Amino acid sequence: MQDSFVHKGKRKILVEYLREKVGISDESVLKAINEVPRHLFLESIFEDFAYEDRAFPILSKQTISHPSTVAEQTELLELQEKEKVLEIGTGSGYQTAVLIAMNAVVYTIERQKDLHDFSQKKLRELYLRPKFQSFGDGFAGLPTFAPFDKILVTCGAEILPTELLHQLKVGGIMVIPLGKTEEQVLTRFTKKSEKEFEKEEFGAYKFVPMLNDTNH
Ligand code: SAH
Repeated sequence: MQDSFVHKGKRKILVEYLREKVGISDESVLKAINEVPRHLFLESIFEDFAYEDRAFPILSKQTISHPSTVAEQTELLELQEKEKVLEIGTGSGYQTAVLIAMNAVVYTIERQKDLHDFSQKKLRELYLRPKFQSFGDGFAGLPTFAPFDKILVTCGAEILPTELLHQLKVGGIMVIPLGKTEEQVLTRFTKKSEKEFEKEEFGAYKFVPMLNDTNH
């Protein structure tokens, strides 16, 4: 599969939709979504629909999030260039690619081996380089590389992974969908001091669950 002018044209329409209908105003997020070829992270049968605001199945019964969800989560991070970002749930690698396109220094963890392998290969093919790509359990974070400016969790956590809050810099932001399997609330924690966090909520979503351990 190539990135043709047809794909690029569809991406522009998607970006306008995200701006006008979804209300995304961070131009750096919109620019990244305009750049990253989402269709290349999907199975070829979904190619024609890749720029619709839809989620699709990926390997291991997981899903690539809606573009609007990726845009909203990324906007909530208030990302600055060169910031260190930890992503939990690499999945297809699409969200990782968006973060890299925004010039973030990205550390990412995936617990499904086939998705870890798929996303690693895909990102390499596109010359998009995360700083570190780990096959492991995101509940543990990456203590050796902590602290992080920002943490983005792309799976729904029933229990708040407090270890991740430890790995956040003071002044840092963690965006995480929190709640039981049926529905989660997109939540943003801002670390005010070592012990104090500001908590904000941004509506209901449905993510695949954040699970313990790894799956070969
Ligand atoms: N950002 C991805 C979204 C994939 S769905 C994309 O753009 O495609 C969420 C991912 O989180 C799934 O791939 C799932 O396997 C992964 N996941 C769930 N629990 C996890 C954990 N504890 N550690 C790491 N990844 C996890």
